[in-house]
Amino acid sequence: MTRTADVVIVGAGVMGAAVAWHLTTLGCRSVILLDHAPGPGTGSTGRATGGFRTQFASAINVRLSLLAREKLRRFHYETGGDSGYQPVGYLFLAADQAQLATLREALAVQRAAGLTESALVSADDIARINPSIVLDGIAGGTFGATDGYIRPLGIMRGYLDAALREGVQVEYNANPIQFELAGDRIASVTTPRGRIAAGHVVNATGAWAADVARLAGIDLPVTPVRRQVALTVPTTALPPSTPMTIFAEDGFHFRVRDGRVLLLWPTDTAGADRYDTTFDARWLDGVVSRAHQRVPALRAVPVDRAGSWCGLYEMSPDHHAILGAAPGLDNFWLINGSSGHGVMHAPALGQLLAEMIVTGGSVSLDAHALRPTRFLEGAPNPAPVLL
Ligand SMILES: Cc1cc2nc3c(=O)[nH]c(=O)nc-3n(C[C@H](O)[C@H](O)[C@H](O)COP(=O)(O)OP(=O)(O)OC[C@H]3O[C@@H](n4cnc5c(N)ncnc54)[C@H](O)[C@@H]3O)c2cc1C
Repeated sequence: MTRTADVVIVGAGVMGAAVAWHLTTLGCRSVILLDHAPGPGTGSTGRATGGFRTQFASAINVRLSLLAREKLRRFHYETGGDSGYQPVGYLFLAADQAQLATLREALAVQRAAGLTESALVSADDIARINPSIVLDGIAGGTFGATDGYIRPLGIMRGYLDAALREGVQVEYNANPIQFELAGDRIASVTTPRGRIAAGHVVNATGAWAADVARLAGIDLPVTPVRRQVALTVPTTALPPSTPMTIFAEDGFHFRVRDGRVLLLWPTDTAGADRYDTTFDARWLDGVVSRAHQRVPALRAVPVDRAGSWCGLYEMSPDHHAILGAAPGLDNFWLINGSSGHGVMHAPALGQLLAEMIVTGGSVSLDAHALRPTRFLEGAPNPAPVLL
């Protein structure tokens, strides 16, 4: 028997859940959410560390964050869920005047895009904001007071549960899926449970999005990139209110979560294949030595190797999200390539994509910079200069 749905969403991570719920708020309840895994959140969403920031260097990313911030503040009221939004701040640190100039330029972009809560900070300010850091070699920085932490699975669960209450259906273990094309549209999606005649199809498959797009004959420039997280043993060495602290020099950053410290250093580690998320312990020496050098309180805090993990960023060529209809397939919608910012931007991107699908184009924030055709046009966004 053929089922029908106004919208079939492939991928039950934070993006798929956000699109599903926002569709229901616009009156579209004939929605089926598919995932090849046995349940939701088994992709990158469950591996994210949960940082939220408005401090970006492009206007579109700042605006997405401002919209997301507004939605995180009313998340519980809207969905009944808990986003865990905790505005403890993001502290970017510059090692020299050139890095400080880059932070200053980003600040100007942020101001022009309407962000008022980020500011330049001096060494004295930094000592007050995060007293755990060695200040030698720090030329200054910026602090965003409304940046901070979120709960990736809390956001996904909030959207998903609210969507289910509104009648959205889910199908897990949907493996494999196939698309049936009819001219410039996808006519149906077939899973092991049968055929679904679809009005629209959404690709919300994160780091796997290029493979799913290829099933529809679309060449989508999203590549998986491994990112590792070192977790310390439980510790009180740093208070829970410690802001996310990022060294612009090499991207090393750290935060406190659930009584442990998370250490990150975005370097490429090799896996057996492009989707391999086996943790590579050879990376630990580099991240731990940076932590010990810059945060003396962590010198006596061992890393919990077994608890440390690896996940996948879903990178686009210009490190910005790809949002809108796929070139050449009018009813195939892309919400991909957030390049490591997907959880924090999901509330905004989910709303915008739902609006595009339901209204045919009219959306509450100008998302032209994220159009999928920009790479074919040779007009990508400028390369990012912050993390
Ligand atoms: C270590 C790490 C730290 C991060 N930290 C942050 C952070 O601090 N803040 C932030 O905003 N973001 C962070 N991210 C990025 C964030 O995790 C992603 O941007 C976000 O989770 C993407 O959500 P998604 O729903 O698109 O993808 P996913 O959560 O990966 O969901 C995709 C879903 O698609 C399903 N799927 C894949 N292929 C198929 C198929 N063929 N058929 C059916 N289903 C399929 C998968 O099973 C999965 O459930 C981090 C990522 C990593 C790895």
